[in-house]
Amino acid sequence: MKYCLLHLGCQMNQSDAERVRTVIEGLGYDRTDDERDADLLGIVACSVRQRAIDKAYARIRLWNSWKSVKSLLTFVTGCVLPADREKFLTLFDLVFDITEAPQLPDMIRQYGVVTGVGMDTVIPRDSLQDAATGYWRIRPSYSSGFEAYVPIQNGCDKFCTFCAVPYTRGPEVSRPSEEILREVAGLVENGYKSITLLGQNVNSYGLDRTGQEISFAGLLRMIGEMGNASGRDFWVYFTSPHPRDMTEEVIRVIAAYPCLAKQIHLPLQSGDDRILIRMNRNYMVDQYRETVRMVRSILPQATLFTDIIVGFSGETEAEFENTRNAMREFQYNMAYVAMYSPRPGAASFRWPDDVPHDEKNRRLHVLSAELAGTSREHNRSMIGRDYRVLVEGPDRKEGYLSAKTEGRIVVRFPSADRSLVGQFATVRITSAASLSVEGELAGVPAPVLAE
Ligand code: SF4
Repeated sequence: MKYCLLHLGCQMNQSDAERVRTVIEGLGYDRTDDERDADLLGIVACSVRQRAIDKAYARIRLWNSWKSVKSLLTFVTGCVLPADREKFLTLFDLVFDITEAPQLPDMIRQYGVVTGVGMDTVIPRDSLQDAATGYWRIRPSYSSGFEAYVPIQNGCDKFCTFCAVPYTRGPEVSRPSEEILREVAGLVENGYKSITLLGQNVNSYGLDRTGQEISFAGLLRMIGEMGNASGRDFWVYFTSPHPRDMTEEVIRVIAAYPCLAKQIHLPLQSGDDRILIRMNRNYMVDQYRETVRMVRSILPQATLFTDIIVGFSGETEAEFENTRNAMREFQYNMAYVAMYSPRPGAASFRWPDDVPHDEKNRRLHVLSAELAGTSREHNRSMIGRDYRVLVEGPDRKEGYLSAKTEGRIVVRFPSADRSLVGQFATVRITSAASLSVEGELAGVPAPVLAE
């Protein structure tokens, strides 16, 4: 028996897919990437991105057309809006919430599929007892041997007006810290070099269980202590935090421990107060400015990344200019700029999408040019210096490998040595472009230099 699993959307869905794979493979299914070859076809869906939801509908219509010639079982899980769930129930054989993944073997058996036994080894018994957090106890089938995502939280209570996540994943639920620490310790023990703590709002970790659970700063501190005690070399990242919950304590803990990577992702979304209010972001530009000032003074070596939406409902030219000015002021190393598009299920879906597409496109290009300017300037300052990098794989450029610094700046260097993939190396930077740098391999190990 073979299965094929597609995951659409963000890293959270990739992480969910890694647990679903473990459950399916525990039933005796072998993985195939050829949908036509599979007996079990599944999707970890994303209702948040229209393109992803269109793809889910296209796949299931195709798969259902094969049912007249072969026996097939189909399922969908992941980030699914209530309205899509209703439609999916008429199209897929199984529709389940990701927290119900431990029950998947029973659901499949109810379809008369005879599967292997021994599920206790992949689905611990207690995972069936706790409906909200039990699925996290499933051991994931990690997609990489050196970088891993570790979910620490599910859901969101923030209700930004452009976002449907609170409706697809429900309220914030924090994963028990002892499980997170156990998973991180296992990864470190197995030589993982890059670990990313995942959640929709990582820095509100623990707030849903105040008094029973540690805070996000407390969690980072325990990971930092584990890193110190392990004698291993690895970097721990987290994404995405909310600016409102970014405390000085979190930044000080990052500064205190070498394994906590000096890279901060702080989504701005807009540089205009009226738009931030309409987005229900719960901070003003001045508060965001104060957080950036704190990051720059406590973590001067950190790189700063952000997310920005252009052309939000009602955004005037003057309001967009405020975002452009904010970008100049905050000097990001990386900005993920998106044109606003209304998300079914989100509050702003009912509001006019009144900035023409061409104008959104223009604003996106203006911000991309701003980013190119600031990041190139930063990258030029790296020339002539040695950086420790994690080698990720072959680069698009023939004969080159691609790597990242601790601050997640892309580094290319000429090498055909595939044994470096998944390892730390030292690269001397020789030239800089706007979103990457190039260099020469300078040996391992090497001093860690600030960016
Ligand atoms: S914080 Fe806002 S953008 Fe992020 S998941 Fe929650 S509602 Fe969506």
